[in-house]
Amino acid sequence: MIYLAEPNLSGNERKYLNECIDTTFVSSVGEFVTRFEKKVVEITEADYGVAVSSGTAGLHMALKACGVEKDEIVCIPAFTFIATANAVAHCGAEPWLIDISADSWTMDPDILEKELEEKTVIKDKCVYHKKSGKKVSAIMPVYTLGLPADMDRINKVARKYRLPVVADAAAAIGANYHNCNIGKLADATVFSFNGNKTITAGGGGAVVSARKEIIDRARHLSTTARCGIEYNHDMVGYNNRMTNIQAAVGCAQLERIDEFVGKKRYITDYYFNQLKHIDGISFFPRVNWAESACWFSGLLLSNRYKVRDICGALKERGIEGRTFWKPMHLQKPYCNVEMANMAVTDKIWKGILTLPSSTGITDKQLEYVVSVIKDILQY
Ligand SMILES: *Cc1c(COP(=O)(O)O)cnc(C)c1O
Repeated sequence: MIYLAEPNLSGNERKYLNECIDTTFVSSVGEFVTRFEKKVVEITEADYGVAVSSGTAGLHMALKACGVEKDEIVCIPAFTFIATANAVAHCGAEPWLIDISADSWTMDPDILEKELEEKTVIKDKCVYHKKSGKKVSAIMPVYTLGLPADMDRINKVARKYRLPVVADAAAAIGANYHNCNIGKLADATVFSFNGNKTITAGGGGAVVSARKEIIDRARHLSTTARCGIEYNHDMVGYNNRMTNIQAAVGCAQLERIDEFVGKKRYITDYYFNQLKHIDGISFFPRVNWAESACWFSGLLLSNRYKVRDICGALKERGIEGRTFWKPMHLQKPYCNVEMANMAVTDKIWKGILTLPSSTGITDKQLEYVVSVIKDILQY
């Protein structure tokens, strides 16, 4: 079977894990955690960072560190993985679903602005949703499939309404925005190191920022809000820190980030070049403001194809292909929240087919996948 996204653990992972065991530093204090945090900050060109137990926990901690409270509202794109919305709900807040733009599949800044303009009022410099009376307290764009959102325009809307921006960059480590890295585009930027991401720590996440107070707060909240080494806690905290074992794997992975992201982009280009002539398919968006980290590669199939059927046909030939995110307005926990019109999300989500994108995939395997796809689509 050629899998969708297999972890590539052929570097120093084993050696560093042995070091954890030899030194008995297996928990949330240890040399690898410190090294991992430094390295993530360096790679993303941020200034401060904290490693946490998952991307979801990172989003939750980042939202809280940016001031999101219970019964407030956070704007997110409808087209995302459910963890984005869940992190808002974990704060006791509610998502406000915004459609994506067709040219990037990331939050549409025009729709965001129009929604805020039509459905909110400003009182004492705060933004309130008119119908519910709830305070709008943050904007959380998602870097879909590793492609940064149009942050110049989203930040402009955020500044107009004095809202903090938390970027869900879960799968975007290694992406570029106007030739810079992505660690300072938002007030806080969150990465995931889950098993299927480009860089994995088994599980894990990180929050980075240019603002020390945000990272200090996220770290404090993630560490049971403990003050000093005695059992003093100044608020209700969480146990959300990354362990040294996870960070050991993460450090070994980060040593190869250029190779991994390079390979991900190579896979995207390969499928594009080999399949672009086929009728009825198109590809994941490219934009002029950013270069995607290309977490997954795949196709956008026209509605004459059923993605589920194609996945079945691929599986019979030893290839894992998969459908992609079912949007938030169609998910049971979020189908009744405030939302914009979802024209673009509704149009694309059912047509997405993700294809084998592991960093360890060989040219021969890629050739095979392409030949099977051509065969199935009767080219
Ligand atoms: C993977 C992912 C997450 C969740 O990260 P976990 O580490 O699995 O909690 C959140 N948002 C997006 C967009 C993701 O792709």
